[in-house]
Amino acid sequence: MLFTSWQKTYYEALEIKENNKTQRKMKWQEYQEAVGVLYEQMSEMGEVRKNITIPDRVTGQARQVDVWWEFQIGNHTIKILIDAKMRASKLDVKDVEEILALAKSVKADKAIIVTNNEWTSPAQLFANHEGLDFLILTIDEATDLIIDGKWLMCKDCGKDCVVMDSDGAVEIDEKINWWLGGKCRSCRTLHIICQACGAKGMMRINESWSCNCDFEWKNTEEYYEFKIITENDVTEFKDPNQREIDFN
Ligand SMILES: [Zn+2]
Ligand SMILES: [Zn+2]
Repeated sequence: MLFTSWQKTYYEALEIKENNKTQRKMKWQEYQEAVGVLYEQMSEMGEVRKNITIPDRVTGQARQVDVWWEFQIGNHTIKILIDAKMRASKLDVKDVEEILALAKSVKADKAIIVTNNEWTSPAQLFANHEGLDFLILTIDEATDLIIDGKWLMCKDCGKDCVVMDSDGAVEIDEKINWWLGGKCRSCRTLHIICQACGAKGMMRINESWSCNCDFEWKNTEEYYEFKIITENDVTEFKDPNQREIDFN
């Protein structure tokens, strides 16, 4: 099956931004991604990693961590666990306990909960005592972060997100045509936005799709390939991340 349009996802995201009443439409994966983007922007020091697993200190079992931030102070590496909690109701002591247990399990020095909602007084007291911080990130703010951050929910599997991390360009008749591309982290479906004609396409592994300018993309095991369909149908695959330079 070939998908030729995933505009709906984009417009749904815009709708969230425009209308607060529809904010519950944001998915938790989107919120989690937004929290990661927030810390990437905030952290001028150290390294921020999103959605990773860290082995449990005792059992060695993989523990899922939303955002992991490491930086150096002197000879010490400070490790901070950041957990995203998109909630309809206030966070409670149980939520704090759960994150503190996770922080201990992965040997974090500090834990931060980022949430769209408030927390109960007992949760606040408990968090203060244990050195856990709360941070508010509203759904509106989170939506701004993911829309501006070239990020989309996968329209194919709907379970995970697509980071549009690849941009390519090709020069034709002294005009630069460029596109944005990225793959779903879960199902690996390729998403392409052609900036020249505005077409948006989606293709699964080994599928091809062409936009209105007769550019064609193919989703491959490695990443993806790009070619120009000419009148003579002479085809040449190019590295999508390599900018074309005309030396003439
Ligand atoms: Zn997907
Ligand atoms: Zn196009």
